[in-house]
Amino acid sequence: MIQPRFSFLLFLSFLLVFSSCATTRQAPSVEPVTLTILHLNDVYEISPLEGGQAGGLARVATLKQQLLREDPNTIALLSGDFLSPSLIGNLKKEDGERIAGQQMVETLNAMGLDYATFGNHEFDLKTADLLQKRILQSNFEYTVCNAFRADSSRVRPFVQNDAGELVPPFLIRTFRNAQGQEVKVGILGVVLPFNQADYVHYEPVVVSFRETVEELRPKVDVIVAMTHLNEADDLALAEEVPGVALFMGGHDHHHMSHYVGETVIAKADANAKTAYVHRITWYPSSGVSKVNSTLVPINPALPDDPSTAAVVEKWQENVGRIMGDQGYSPGEILMDADPPLECQEVVVRRRQTNYGNLVLRAFEAAAPGADVYLINSGSMRLDDNISGAVTQYDVLRTLPFGGGLVRMALPGEVLKKVLDIGEGENRGEGGYLQRYRAEKEGEGWLINGQPLKAGQRYAVVLPAFVAAGNEANLEFLKDYKQEQLGPLVVDGASVRNDVRDLTIAYMRFLGK
Ligand SMILES: [Zn+2]
Repeated sequence: MIQPRFSFLLFLSFLLVFSSCATTRQAPSVEPVTLTILHLNDVYEISPLEGGQAGGLARVATLKQQLLREDPNTIALLSGDFLSPSLIGNLKKEDGERIAGQQMVETLNAMGLDYATFGNHEFDLKTADLLQKRILQSNFEYTVCNAFRADSSRVRPFVQNDAGELVPPFLIRTFRNAQGQEVKVGILGVVLPFNQADYVHYEPVVVSFRETVEELRPKVDVIVAMTHLNEADDLALAEEVPGVALFMGGHDHHHMSHYVGETVIAKADANAKTAYVHRITWYPSSGVSKVNSTLVPINPALPDDPSTAAVVEKWQENVGRIMGDQGYSPGEILMDADPPLECQEVVVRRRQTNYGNLVLRAFEAAAPGADVYLINSGSMRLDDNISGAVTQYDVLRTLPFGGGLVRMALPGEVLKKVLDIGEGENRGEGGYLQRYRAEKEGEGWLINGQPLKAGQRYAVVLPAFVAAGNEANLEFLKDYKQEQLGPLVVDGASVRNDVRDLTIAYMRFLGK
């Protein structure tokens, strides 16, 4: 199955044979039809990460060209989450509009992406019009069976292209072999109703998926799906709706593979650190298809495709210039992240993580002596883990909003209220607080190992944004006095009062 030139890339391979009809007569004179699918999911970065060692869409473009030489029936698809979040996306263009995914669309166009479905992060874009604009700028096609545009009190699909065609619930594509034998492949997409943007209407995942598969089944030979769901929902959906050859998953950021009945479920690593290559072989005389899936690392062994690299470079130069103007050196390697620093949204908004802890220790290094250090998890926007060589760029993309710290002297009962809301009502939201030197014990809190006392005053260092009452359920903080911090010093060097600068300086110290 694997060409020799790919064998060095192979570190996981599995094979599934399934029969979609009762009889398996095979006429040897009829050649099978093949289809090769290059599958990515959850890509926020157009350039390599880990100091250049992992990912990079110019490398993925080369992989697609290699696969095309192996099998002219090669397509590339992306199972959602690519227009947001990113450092580049938050920057503004000369016309004042945020870049908001345009860098990704242009890079994916150059790379030769063919199909995509929506992930929850596509709906981070501020308005339906902006998302619609990005779809129209895409040379690839979108398909989704359960998410629709819902502004101006109408529910309708987004528009696929300038001809006014709509984003359909499924696509049917025909592939042929040299003999002219055909296989009809149905491709559908589904997204979890996670990001409740007010301009999106979601239909239930299982019902929509089942109805779409049932509509497709009589029309095609093989059904494959792009599923932007969490792992448990993928497994349940494959049980509930059998007969789909392949779920090309997303939303989870680490590679995995499962079998559920006839269905292969596979997800690659986020940010194109790996890609899945699914080689499907269809035997026309028997109606049998075979799926062979290989996880391919995207690393320097794959050279850059020059035309994709040119697009990436254009955008990275923009970022480099803007960040350079602000005094940053995005390429500087600061430290090695081993184990990885946890900054996935689902984790960082629900529990304390090692990355939250590192950022807060950076606060303490610069502003020592406070009783408690806090940061709102919503200011940590990476939705990924950082592993390997950590650069300034990694810090900038984690903390894209920046902003300074202040100190507050809070009565014990107010600090308790802040901590309770952070851990309780705000769990799962951006107002969930990462905290340092405050630990939950039963219904109460330990501050530096001592029970929190209502009558006592506590020095709390936190982002000015939170102190000003801008975070959900913590508006009352604006009624308490803020103290400006004095000059900040980390490891003997003065540092600007900005969470990004503080974290960079502290990581540089850790990496020494
Ligand atoms: Zn997602």
